[in-house]
Amino acid sequence: MSHAAFAAILGADHVVADETERRLYAQDVMQWPGAPVPELVVKPGSAAEVVQVLQRAAQLGMAVAPRGGGMSYTKGYVPEKAGTVMLDLARLNQIVEINTRDLYVVLEPAVTWQQLSEALKGTGLRPTITGPISGAVSTVGGALSQNLPGSMDGVLGLELVLADGTRVHTGSWAITRAKSPFFRTYGPDLTGLFLGDTGAYAVKTGAVLRLEHVPEGVAFASFAFDRMIDIAGAMAEVAHHGLAAKSFGMDPLKNRTATKVDMAEGARTLVDVARSGKSLVQGIRDAARIAAAGRNAFDDVKWSLHLTFEGFDQHTADAKKAAAQRICTGKGGREIEPSIPVAMRAKPYSIRGFLGLEGERWVPVHGVFANSRVDQVIPRVEAFFAERGAALEAADIRHSFLLSINGPQWLVEPMFYWFDEVTPLHKRHLSPKNAERFGAIPANPNARDLVLKTRTDLRDLFFDLGAVTAQVGKYYNLPGALEPETYALLTRIKDLLDPDRRLNPGNLGWR
Ligand SMILES: Cc1cc2nc3c(=O)[nH]c(=O)nc-3n(C[C@H](O)[C@H](O)[C@H](O)COP(=O)(O)OP(=O)(O)OC[C@H]3O[C@@H](n4cnc5c(N)ncnc54)[C@H](O)[C@@H]3O)c2cc1C
Repeated sequence: MSHAAFAAILGADHVVADETERRLYAQDVMQWPGAPVPELVVKPGSAAEVVQVLQRAAQLGMAVAPRGGGMSYTKGYVPEKAGTVMLDLARLNQIVEINTRDLYVVLEPAVTWQQLSEALKGTGLRPTITGPISGAVSTVGGALSQNLPGSMDGVLGLELVLADGTRVHTGSWAITRAKSPFFRTYGPDLTGLFLGDTGAYAVKTGAVLRLEHVPEGVAFASFAFDRMIDIAGAMAEVAHHGLAAKSFGMDPLKNRTATKVDMAEGARTLVDVARSGKSLVQGIRDAARIAAAGRNAFDDVKWSLHLTFEGFDQHTADAKKAAAQRICTGKGGREIEPSIPVAMRAKPYSIRGFLGLEGERWVPVHGVFANSRVDQVIPRVEAFFAERGAALEAADIRHSFLLSINGPQWLVEPMFYWFDEVTPLHKRHLSPKNAERFGAIPANPNARDLVLKTRTDLRDLFFDLGAVTAQVGKYYNLPGALEPETYALLTRIKDLLDPDRRLNPGNLGWR
């Protein structure tokens, strides 16, 4: 009955009833025991079709879960209730307008970050927002629904479809005369209200991002540190002075996996590095330096910090680098070959890291803190792992850290690796060679349960320490974190927008 209802709107080819295929949508990068398989997966091809799907779902009393690239791990689109319609937005993938004069780009929600970056090649422009590393597959709509731990200031407007099918725009995109999405706020910031909602307030069917000129000057530096507290202190100081455009730190395990990606991916990265240099000669020189640094370059490095500096001209970028060098060496850092930031600039997006080098499963958890909290948070995180190290080791579970700083806030992201079955979602995105190579790894529910428990305990530690998190979904405890009055206000807005609680039930605590 529901199949026919949606096929009448979208055509039978865009309504998935096959159970094997639907099962793929009952997980994200993690498996979630007991999650119901969606009743149907529907694939609208336009915002107008999204309107009709939501209206029909309302008539049928069905819950709706929007999905972009599917690269999250906080149960954001995984159904909470039986009878859910999964709204796979993959067909809404057009770049509608690149406005080089007013510096914005209008997109459909399932445009990926990589697709956007390719479309902007040759314009000298880029979005002011840096997309997630998963941007080879993950979408602009997904990131705007998750909140990026950096800044969301560069989102100028949204096109939204509410649970009852009403289609609205935010910012100057909503002005009826001289309609242009060039400005975010006109009255209260409606755009901001829908960022980070993990799809619980509305479905995003369009987005406008601010563009900027790619700066002329760029420089890179990397440093080795012996202790987490030192690397984090250096990162906070560099950030305090606004020196680095990008700053991330890695622990010994992450160092090794980042440098020893499998050979094919490594070779592709070098080609990308050579192509991305300011001149071919510079590019080839950078690629040669990375190749010479080799796969074992980080074996004797404990913590490594990777910085990218930008400036209106090369002199400015170099001056920022010199200032950061003084800070990092003053805090015990030793300068090393900056092969990682060079490679990351050349190839910013890849989902290969969603499995470890040998096909180990991977899942992270994060907390965002004010830079001034670094000294309080790090000892707690280190104590957490000291207490559990033996149990994790006994189950052959390894952990690693990514640290990053975007402005005045600091993100700590521990990640777990363990051998376990590679899921259908992973296989869909692996090369045939790796799908075969890793496909035989057996299920390891005991280790998986221990990872889930440890990850949850760490999430709760971050909660106790007052962290902010992106990607709330059904995983992070937003209701428990906020003042009751603040959460009640958010709930009143939910009741206004979605009184029957049909959009992504369970997300942000609304069932
Ligand atoms: C290898 C890897 C690297 C990653 N690196 C980063 C990183 O550097 N930074 C980072 O922040 N995250 C990172 N992530 C996490 C994740 O990929 C990002 O949060 C990403 O932005 C999710 O986008 P998506 O399109 O895959 O969203 P999905 O997983 O499809 O959805 C995420 C949430 O958004 C909702 N949603 C999606 N599209 C819409 C829409 N159009 N309207 C309303 N709701 C919607 C869904 O219901 C769900 O709640 C990484 C993940 C992997 C696997």
